Amino acid sequence: MLKSFLNFFYILGAGCYASSLELTEALLSKPDLFLAKETRIGIIGGGAAGLSAAYYLQQNGYNNVTVLEKEERVGGKCHTVSIDGSPCNLGASFVTSCDLHVREIAKTLGHEFSDSPDAFRMSSTDKKVSDLSNYSFFQKGMNLARGAKLYSSLLLPAVGFSGVQKQDILTGTIDEFIKKQNLPMLSDCIKIASESYGYGPMTKQATPYALKLVLPELKLRLSSLSALFKKAQIDTPKGGYQGLLETMASNLCVKTGNAVTKILYEGKEDAQKEILVTTYDSLAKTNQSFHFDKLIVAVPPDHLKGITELGSEEQDLFSRIRYYDYNVTLFEPEKALGYKAYINDINDKEPTVISQINSKESICSSYQYGSLDSYHLGEKPSSLSMDSTHSGLESTLEKYLGTKTQTIKAHKQWDYFPHVSAKDIQEGFFDRMEALQGKKNTYYVGSTLAFEWVDAVFGYSKNLVNTHFPK
Ligand SMILES: Cc1cc2nc3c(=O)[nH]c(=O)nc-3n(C[C@H](O)[C@H](O)[C@H](O)COP(=O)(O)OP(=O)(O)OC[C@H]3O[C@@H](n4cnc5c(N)ncnc54)[C@H](O)[C@@H]3O)c2cc1C
Repeated sequence: MLKSFLNFFYILGAGCYASSLELTEALLSKPDLFLAKETRIGIIGGGAAGLSAAYYLQQNGYNNVTVLEKEERVGGKCHTVSIDGSPCNLGASFVTSCDLHVREIAKTLGHEFSDSPDAFRMSSTDKKVSDLSNYSFFQKGMNLARGAKLYSSLLLPAVGFSGVQKQDILTGTIDEFIKKQNLPMLSDCIKIASESYGYGPMTKQATPYALKLVLPELKLRLSSLSALFKKAQIDTPKGGYQGLLETMASNLCVKTGNAVTKILYEGKEDAQKEILVTTYDSLAKTNQSFHFDKLIVAVPPDHLKGITELGSEEQDLFSRIRYYDYNVTLFEPEKALGYKAYINDINDKEPTVISQINSKESICSSYQYGSLDSYHLGEKPSSLSMDSTHSGLESTLEKYLGTKTQTIKAHKQWDYFPHVSAKDIQEGFFDRMEALQGKKNTYYVGSTLAFEWVDAVFGYSKNLVNTHFPK
């Protein structure tokens, strides 16, 4: 009540002094200027997005925040299992030198990092381990100069993808972009960073996604002469990525084993809507009800289909989201690898990255597309069976690395990289999604809007919280 009262006078007062109508409109579109710290805020999903949103809300003083997580564990795609007593990641693993949000939170919570193994690129024709030394000094210089010029002309937002469709250069696929810009070295970087890691073939992948991964590194490289020649710093959280999220969760109110099954909006006016959320508690085997003033959706928005009533705009936008079938296998090879190998030629059913998890342990991980075709939620093409995963892995190990598996330790299949097509981006998908923020007292965070990378997800949550839930 006090909140609406203050808001009313703030807006009225500002309205009197405003020299233009736009200022009043801008203020009216920000009804949360005096949001009470006791506001009941519900968050669906206890992955990187939901937990970071709750963490930043806590930092801003909000004290009535509840995270609802379907699984018995937190972390989502930050999933770590213990194999022979060692933490091994089945999901997120690496932290780059540009991942500043992750590094800041890890430092605050006292989490350390360990080095990840050296990386090399392999091809089936030239089985020798190779890297960018294939390029002459002159070629590297030319690529870097063109890259620098390009970088200074691109306006890719640091967080999310708002407005990207307004820049012609960013529309289309990354394959088309590289050809137009004549940057063959960038093509090699993206093959490794993006294509191998499950973001889809370069011929299908929208340019803003591919650049989201490589531009921060390029920016860092161009910041000084010493940075230009420095080896990229890639670490992994000690104890696994899930461990970092578990520490975050330990200071927050998180209800695991609570799958959200229904969301009902009560009240006619948008600003006054109260939100009734029903979950199925898998331990108690009963339904639970929660009442919230604000809801943050930290699952890909298409997960809301069937859980709540969607308007035509929501239905249209959410139906565009698609995924890749991406598989991780943890195994012990007959011969220790000691490094990470990127397989140059992407094939469905054969791994694209094989790496030894760390320099001390002999456990390796393999990343493998089930299919190079993307799909909509619930319409997954026939997934890789354990047998076909294994035979693809054996043939790659033999063809490229001259070894075999000794034991398969674990396997996990993911609906990976919620994304939209280059055409959907060109048609303004991201700006339309941003326009939904706050409608019906509901907000969206997570990899669909931020990009499938923990630091991008943390950064997006921080930005959303600071914009809509101020200190
Ligand atoms: C194999 C693999 C490797 C990766 N490698 C890296 C890496 O090296 N570095 C990096 O930074 N990133 C990496 N990533 C990406 C990173 O893990 C993700 O981008 C990030 O974890 C996504 O977080 P999120 O919260 O948006 O989604 P998610 O992690 O998917 O979290 C969503 C959560 O919502 C829960 N949920 C779903 N439905 C409901 C419901 N109805 N009710 C309640 N809860 C629900 C889920 O159980 C889940 O916990 C990798 C991912 C994978 C799969």
